[in-house]
Amino acid sequence: LSKFLADPMRSTNHPDVAQAITTTSSEAKDLLRMERVGTHSHIRGLGLDDALEPRKSSQGMVGQLKARKAAGVILRMIQQGKIAGRAILIAGPPSTGKTAIAMGMAQALGSDVPFTMLAASEIFSLEMSKTEALTQAFRRSIGVRIKEESELIEGEVVEVQIDSSVTGSSKTGKLTLKTTEMETIYDLGHKMIEALNREKVMAGDVITIDKASGRITKLGRSFTRARDYDAMGSDTKFVQCPEGELQKRKEVVHTVSLHEIDVINSRTQGFLALFSGDTGEIKGEVRDQINTKIAEWREEGKAEIVPGVLFIDEVHMLDIECFSFLNRALEDDLAPVVIMASNRGITTIRGTKYKSPHGMPVDLLDRTLIISTNPYKEEEVKQILSIRCEEEDVEMTEDAKEVLTRIGMETSLRYSIHLITAAHLVAKKRKAAAVDIQDIKRVYALFLDEKRSVQFLKEHQDEYMFNEVEESMAVDS
Ligand code: ATP
Repeated sequence: LSKFLADPMRSTNHPDVAQAITTTSSEAKDLLRMERVGTHSHIRGLGLDDALEPRKSSQGMVGQLKARKAAGVILRMIQQGKIAGRAILIAGPPSTGKTAIAMGMAQALGSDVPFTMLAASEIFSLEMSKTEALTQAFRRSIGVRIKEESELIEGEVVEVQIDSSVTGSSKTGKLTLKTTEMETIYDLGHKMIEALNREKVMAGDVITIDKASGRITKLGRSFTRARDYDAMGSDTKFVQCPEGELQKRKEVVHTVSLHEIDVINSRTQGFLALFSGDTGEIKGEVRDQINTKIAEWREEGKAEIVPGVLFIDEVHMLDIECFSFLNRALEDDLAPVVIMASNRGITTIRGTKYKSPHGMPVDLLDRTLIISTNPYKEEEVKQILSIRCEEEDVEMTEDAKEVLTRIGMETSLRYSIHLITAAHLVAKKRKAAAVDIQDIKRVYALFLDEKRSVQFLKEHQDEYMFNEVEESMAVDS
């Protein structure tokens, strides 16, 4: 790590660093697993079969078949590395599973493909500019798969073959890499290990070994070339490394995000910033340098780019500057797939006085694939509620589920999902094993849904301060 910090641009592929980053993300995942039951924790994928046909209910997903299939097609293209820099909009009324579908995609993508989730309102902060926040989100969603060759280590057995025409005696022997005195070609000690690693000797390579110093020179992969080096004298052994043991030089692959590389290189304590999240703004030059370095690695076959997914929820909360930034950023070579979600109809684009569908400028909409979600049928709501009961470990009688489903249809799916936990607490208090109708009734009376809340306000508006409700209520209702 210290080596890396001292010379970051050179050593981003240093195994310690890559290892440390990998450890960070896997530890983060462990923590997530320990987290309590979350809003979407019942979603384990998109619930599609191999032909991308949606199953009615699978992996925690129910209904919304067309949208799930469309999401599946996009997912397949992402997995095959066929698309990047595309924009997708999931549009539909509240509580119709837009976020759930995005979560399903994230689950199905697996841990090697980066998936970043961002609520559009999160980018408005005093700490950094809106475009910097978006740039960071973009680069968090691009993975860099770094390939490293593992080093040969002490104690490994490496087979070498000595060419008879050069040495005068034909021998095939096993060379054990060990740290003892350099006596024979079979026992050259750790200098040999270092040299083999330094010269990146692979199976099939022809090398010379200087018996006195143990120095290794890689000559290439043919003896014809080796003979040109005859002049090196009898102290030099020509060795061919056959297929087999030297193959031990395995490839190790780490995936880190572009943003992680940016952060590590942007400050002396960059690596720690990854833990604290206090990354601040990152200079354009640092990013340019990193892009150049990664382009080099790609050409050398040392790294691959893995375009991931950036999910922007409540996209109508972005303003016109952000939208124009998105338009341009999507055209970048290193752009992820951007999935946006909105429950707004035709509304004002933030920062302008113009109205547009979903509050998005039409030029951005024009380059967007739109997936729409629709309200659920009664049986679907019931099934989602059953899945949530299971997820939250709540026993509920059939009658209670019926009532909760009806509440869900009349209010919203989200409201009825929320009642599960509350009703469970009430049932526990009266020491019942299962939630029954009376518990649902109790919490329904305790917690207002949106419609009843509005009704309540209308009836009691005179008792509240700064009451301006009349006009806007008239518009809403
Ligand atoms: P909003 O526009 O209000 O943000 P949304 O469309 O993003 O709403 P979600 O948050 O995805 O809605 O859905 C509300 C709840 O219902 C979540 O807990 C979600 O996991 C669950 N849910 C929605 N659709 C499905 C589905 N098809 N299968 C299973 N669970 C679902």
